[in-house]
Amino acid sequence: MNLDPGIICYQHCEGRLFGFSLPPTCYLCGADLTTEPLTTPPFRVPYPFVRASQAPCTIVIKPSRGDFLHDYRSSSDLHIGVTDSEGCVFEYDSEGLHSDYTSSWTQSLSVPIITDSSNQLDPVWQEYWDFTLHTLAHDPCWSMERYTETSFNCYSFVLEFLQMLGPPGLNVKTLTKTSLCAQLLIPHTATAAKYISLYRRLLTQKVVAVTNSS
Ligand SMILES: [Zn+2]
Repeated sequence: MNLDPGIICYQHCEGRLFGFSLPPTCYLCGADLTTEPLTTPPFRVPYPFVRASQAPCTIVIKPSRGDFLHDYRSSSDLHIGVTDSEGCVFEYDSEGLHSDYTSSWTQSLSVPIITDSSNQLDPVWQEYWDFTLHTLAHDPCWSMERYTETSFNCYSFVLEFLQMLGPPGLNVKTLTKTSLCAQLLIPHTATAAKYISLYRRLLTQKVVAVTNSS
């Protein structure tokens, strides 16, 4: 099951229009859209979220409370985990380190760390990713007793993982929670925020118009 609410974008006259379906008349000029040609035919706006199980060997994030579409604010705390090659999420929280194939990661953002130009992970890296992740997950330091919300938390686990993995193009020695967010997470949350804002506006109005003058 896909949770994509299916926002479509189309253009008739002055600007781009967004909605959950194509209305019979143009919101801007009132033209009959069943007979009038559209400037841009309807296309589905790319849904930025994935089920973690569909995003193997990546970093995954979601709001600590609630979900992105309904609850996320730019100031919200994010929970972070790592998927293995089977799409199983390894996450560290107040219950200690655990792995999760399904339930709570249905609407997450996936952050690829090592991919080639075709967005694929080399099999050798994939094997090393799993080896590193599974080895780290067995370390007894990730216990519920040692967990603290502010200083030894989900980010500590992911930072330790990245430091062990040493992916190309990432200076892991100097990586902190702040630099991890700035370099890797914010580009993804910023794109998602645009989609979230559009979705929320469409819950209260049928059409969102982005005209050249707006
Ligand atoms: Zn129009």
